[in-house]
Amino acid sequence: MNKITPQPGIMDIALYQGGQSHVEGVENVIKLSSNENPFGPSPKAIEAVRDSATLLHRYPVTDHYNLRAAIGERHGLDPDRIICGVGSDEVLQFVAQAYAGPGDEVIHTEHGFSMYPIIARMAGATPVEVPERDRKVDVDAILAAVTDRTRIVFVTNPGNPTSTMISDAELTRLAEGLPQTCLMVLDGAYAEFVPGFDGGAGLVDRFDNVIMTRTFSKIYGLGGMRVGWGYAHREIIDVLNRVRQPFNLSLTAIAAAEAAVADVEYVEFCRAENARLREWLSAELAKIGVPSDPSCTNFILARFADQAEAEACDAYLQSKGLIVRRVAGYKLPNALRITVGDEKACSRVVAAITAFKGGAA
Ligand SMILES: *Cc1c(COP(=O)(O)O)cnc(C)c1O
Repeated sequence: MNKITPQPGIMDIALYQGGQSHVEGVENVIKLSSNENPFGPSPKAIEAVRDSATLLHRYPVTDHYNLRAAIGERHGLDPDRIICGVGSDEVLQFVAQAYAGPGDEVIHTEHGFSMYPIIARMAGATPVEVPERDRKVDVDAILAAVTDRTRIVFVTNPGNPTSTMISDAELTRLAEGLPQTCLMVLDGAYAEFVPGFDGGAGLVDRFDNVIMTRTFSKIYGLGGMRVGWGYAHREIIDVLNRVRQPFNLSLTAIAAAEAAVADVEYVEFCRAENARLREWLSAELAKIGVPSDPSCTNFILARFADQAEAEACDAYLQSKGLIVRRVAGYKLPNALRITVGDEKACSRVVAAITAFKGGAA
């Protein structure tokens, strides 16, 4: 019988579950489920997008030179060692496609980003999950899981949905412990929220097999534009460019990202506001018996007594127009991930969880 069938393994790929954005029958909803910037993009990025509209008949550049130069200048990095992608997700996909295939293993951690196993399977490779310790990446567990088939290790630092970080010393120990045949990918999607943190760029400079990825989707507030980038050794960038489509980034996306990365003041404002509101939110929730680990990101992982309480609280928040993220799929059934919104959003969250806890008592 002739039947069109996909390649082996394709149907094993899970469909990514995005953050929910509306609640049936509830108005005035605040979305706190996708770690978006509550203040939106830089006004300069918005202006650049408007200006780009008259040029939409033109193909975008293929080498992203100006954007890479702007990123390089902002972070003190060599633009020739930067690659840009349609979100950092695309850069992660380039890495898997170029360096892993059938029979190869790709390590990700227990509470790691759900895109890692998806991306591994897209390349035909086998994802291998490694436990974390108290919601933190466990370097020893990763090293113990490495086999001669391991090609890539994905580590998010700070982590999503855990919000925790491991130290530079721990990351160095991981890089030193991995075989040279294995790439270490440091996903720095939340690096900008940590003052003074280089996202792992220093490790890239010290180890040939380390790659850092970054995104414009979080602190830059450009999730809708889809721009991310990677930093690695020149040889690796050269490999990744061979699996990148020449026009992967749209002209509009390039314009927005270029303007955003140059607006240092706006990023600083977002970082400071996030830190202030995050500390307030976590402290208020802790007072009413909802603890969370100290967060290094723009969200907190609020812990409840058990899965039933977390789900009941989520349902209550939804009824109040507050959408947060359930993380049972990340092996954190007792927790809810709550993006730090603006002041009004944080106040609404605290009021709603206080009412929920009061009602439950
Ligand atoms: C949000 C996020 C990203 C960013 O993905 P983009 O494709 O750049 O939007 C990457 N990794 C993690 C862990 C994230 O939470």
